[in-house]
Amino acid sequence: MDFGNFSLESISLPTVLIEAGPGRAVRINAVFKQVFGPCLNADGSLQFDDLDTLLGGQLQDLHPESGGSIIQEIKIGRKRHSFEFKIGLDASSETSPLLLLGLDRSDLVKAEAKLSSYVRIIEKNNRELQFLANTDPLTGAANRRALFNRFQELAERQPDFHCAVSILDIDHFKRYNDEYGHDFGDFVLKTFADQVRAQLTEKTIFARIGGEEFCVVDYSGSADIASEKLEDALEAVRDLQLDTPKTEHVNITFSAGVAEFGKDGETLDDLLKNADLALYYAKANGRSCVIPYSAELFQKRDRTLVARVNNRESRE
Ligand code: GH3
Ligand code: MG
Ligand code: MG
Repeated sequence: MDFGNFSLESISLPTVLIEAGPGRAVRINAVFKQVFGPCLNADGSLQFDDLDTLLGGQLQDLHPESGGSIIQEIKIGRKRHSFEFKIGLDASSETSPLLLLGLDRSDLVKAEAKLSSYVRIIEKNNRELQFLANTDPLTGAANRRALFNRFQELAERQPDFHCAVSILDIDHFKRYNDEYGHDFGDFVLKTFADQVRAQLTEKTIFARIGGEEFCVVDYSGSADIASEKLEDALEAVRDLQLDTPKTEHVNITFSAGVAEFGKDGETLDDLLKNADLALYYAKANGRSCVIPYSAELFQKRDRTLVARVNNRESRE
């Protein structure tokens, strides 16, 4: 083939010309010799088979249809380089010459590796930040913000969304702080949260919404089942015997009010408000119980209960 005035030396990249025909003579330019000097034969030449070995035996696969390039790690002296050889002349059969231009991508490969490790670090930091922004550090429960976000997501994602929203409040919690100190109070909170969480199904949001107040959004089944699960949790919490810093043990209990999505409200604000009303009744009823909200009960204004609730409020 006639290349006219074309010279391999006019190309400033390592360049190889594999000539057509049997024997497939290989011509290399000065830049190639300079870069790949240690890989060449003693007389500075390079045969077709040597070149194929240098390129990891990929020469046969080199077609314009397969991307037209070979990427190969090549050790030159003591350093490893990542080279990309591109077809500079569109022909690859034995009957046509083949021109290959080499690009050293080592810096790019190193930069890409560095970049992807930075990306991994940033992603990990983001996940940690996300976790911290949504989690109560003492108990590991979701915080108020996460509760509202997750509720919103669930309600929007599921067309037939249904759930029971409960507020759980540890009974006489202040006494633990007063009697045994704030650290013991924290220990009670953590133990309480672990025990309740262990009783809940996967389809639950468990959040800390106040000092010793928690919210459970159970979207696994009916409100009755949700109340039953809370009764189980109450049983499990009652069974706990906590070692105090003094010699005695203490038991803990909680009271809970439950509101049902649809029947007792559509928004989380309304459901929390009604669960809180039911919780008041639970407290006024002697504590350590689970009370479902009932519009009828509240409309009837049960005099005894209201009196007890009012009585409690005036003491606080
Ligand atoms: P009730 O049975 O009516 O719910 O009474 P209670 O004592 O549980 O409720 P009260 O609201 O009187 O007291 C709650 C206490 O919780 C007051 C507050 O100092 C304490 N508290 C709030 N947050 C924390 C906390 O993170 N750690 C500890 N140790 N105490 C806390
Ligand atoms: Mg309390
Ligand atoms: Mg409270």
